[in-house]
Amino acid sequence: MEKKQFKAESKRLLDLMIHSIYTNKEIFLREILSNASDAIDKLCYLSLTDEGVGLSREDFRIDIRLDKEARTVTVSDNGIGMTAEECEGNLGVIAHSGSYQFKDQLDKAQAGDEVSIIGQFGVGFYSAFMVADRVTVVTRKYGEAQGVVWTSTDADGYTVEPCEKASVGTDVIMHLRPDSDEEIFGSYLEAWKIKALVKKYSDYVRWPIHMELDRQERFETGERDDEGKPRYDTRTVKADEIVNSMVPIWQRGKQDVTDEECIAWYKEKTHDQKDPAAVLRVNAEGTVSYQAMLFIPGQDSRDYKGDGRHGIRLYANGVMIMETCDKLVHEYFDFVRGVVDSPDLSLNISRELLQHDRQLRVIGQNLEKKIKGELERLLRDDRPKYETFFQSFGTDLKAGVCDEYGRYKDFLRELLLFYTSEDKQVTLKEYVANMPASQKPIYYASADTLRHALSLPQCEQVRARGYELLYLTHPLDEVVLENLREQDCHPFCNVVTDDLGFETDEEKKAAAERELESRELLDFVTESLGGAVVRTRFSRKLANQPCCLTTEGGLTLEMERYFRRGPNEEMRKLRASRVLELNEGHKAVQALRAAYEGGEREKAASYAKILDTLAELMAGCEIEDPARFVGLVSDLLK
Ligand code: ADP
Repeated sequence: MEKKQFKAESKRLLDLMIHSIYTNKEIFLREILSNASDAIDKLCYLSLTDEGVGLSREDFRIDIRLDKEARTVTVSDNGIGMTAEECEGNLGVIAHSGSYQFKDQLDKAQAGDEVSIIGQFGVGFYSAFMVADRVTVVTRKYGEAQGVVWTSTDADGYTVEPCEKASVGTDVIMHLRPDSDEEIFGSYLEAWKIKALVKKYSDYVRWPIHMELDRQERFETGERDDEGKPRYDTRTVKADEIVNSMVPIWQRGKQDVTDEECIAWYKEKTHDQKDPAAVLRVNAEGTVSYQAMLFIPGQDSRDYKGDGRHGIRLYANGVMIMETCDKLVHEYFDFVRGVVDSPDLSLNISRELLQHDRQLRVIGQNLEKKIKGELERLLRDDRPKYETFFQSFGTDLKAGVCDEYGRYKDFLRELLLFYTSEDKQVTLKEYVANMPASQKPIYYASADTLRHALSLPQCEQVRARGYELLYLTHPLDEVVLENLREQDCHPFCNVVTDDLGFETDEEKKAAAERELESRELLDFVTESLGGAVVRTRFSRKLANQPCCLTTEGGLTLEMERYFRRGPNEEMRKLRASRVLELNEGHKAVQALRAAYEGGEREKAASYAKILDTLAELMAGCEIEDPARFVGLVSDLLK
């Protein structure tokens, strides 16, 4: 029979596990039982719509059998089973979910660190090799006539071949390693020990875990004592016993399960190595009763999305009815993980119907409020944690504000953070609370990086007045503010395109008159730029810089940049209507005027081009013709 090889990283993991000094080897049982339970979940789910399964809820079970002579621990389930391809695909590679991160960390790890990496990952099925030198999986998938045997001895490849198997499901047979001075693997053949491990790690597996345990039984010997009464003796008999309590973790009272236990469950199920930012447990009774155990991840770990570990799992009274229920909460809370279980949900409901289910909507609305409340609590009580969370999931919330024409904007607005300096982020409420009485609008500057936004010349005057600005760096930020419109009656003001509102009417009039007087010069500048700008005017926003760029119309430079990076060919060509603003008091602008008025048109045109390019640079645009710009500046230096 052909022996196949594990993929390289899987082999390395196996080697590590087998030879590691990792002390927590006993977790193998939890991993194998958890797989068995998932497999039953899947078949049970199928049985709701497929009568061919022929099993009802009470029929599903997991069995642990210990064989001292053969030195084997066998875990059997009557779940969904695997095909030969699935055995290869699932057991021949590291649990795909964790593999990406695992490999990444393994590559970065120094020798010696590797052991702790194993500890961090729920490496699932592979953990069996920590205690067994040979693992045989005998399985038959639901709907298949034949079974499959998958065997691997240590890390040395594996074989897959067909076999007969009477019923659907999976047996995982672990041949324990020989005992050594350091480790007595044989202890896993002791029923009391296995029973204790089930209690410790797998008590709330939802399906009954059966074991044959010794029980003392009193029996009549058939003899009689001196008084003629029957004699009794005790003997040891094997008796089937369910060794777990079967109450899922989320169905247990808060006082019975600590947050740590919930977090351990979260890490095992999601393969997120980090603690979640928050654990939310809800036990609701009312028109719709449900229990929920939800987690807000601390950071994004969605790079291995797609296998149902994500989102919210839906149960109807302990029976899984949907692996990822993406319609329970809105997309902006897509990052939430966990379980919702309600006895009021119908078991036999299709996915499509469920989406319109009234009960589900009620649950969803309640949970959204709770999630929001929890986020607000974090924001208030643990700012650094919230900021890390926002770093990962802020985009979801921002997208939510823009979704459906701003329908959810008021629900989400308080959860948004914006930079007001290099290292400070505030909510809009905090910004407003910090405004001096003289300040009317909320000023913001938008650029592709924070550094860049901070250095926009249009910010100078605002800061000079002691006002804070919001520095926007996310492509969605401008659209978010557009949707929000105002905060506590303060409108938003884009320092690049909007009137800052600092001038009196007289000042405005005087400036307009001055501009009229210089109309010829300004038009000359526009013309010499050959269509690069639609207009040139004197700026009333600049303090120290000679010029800046602003735009007219709906399209800003930020949006232009955003579209340019996008996939749409037509959108990529969009160009904002640029307006060049000159600081009339600045020496460079005075030099331009002197050249123009002195009849040196060519020189004046070069100055205009240089100033325009400088404005483009400060606005964070790419210069279209750097060589020409260098030529112009070099000429000046002559
Ligand atoms: P994980 O359970 O984290 O995905 P494992 O390495 O434990 O990783 O298992 C890999 C995959 O193998 C599982 O996702 C499942 O598809 C399959 N598998 C493991 N054990 C069983 C089982 N008893 N019945 C059916 N499928 C199983």
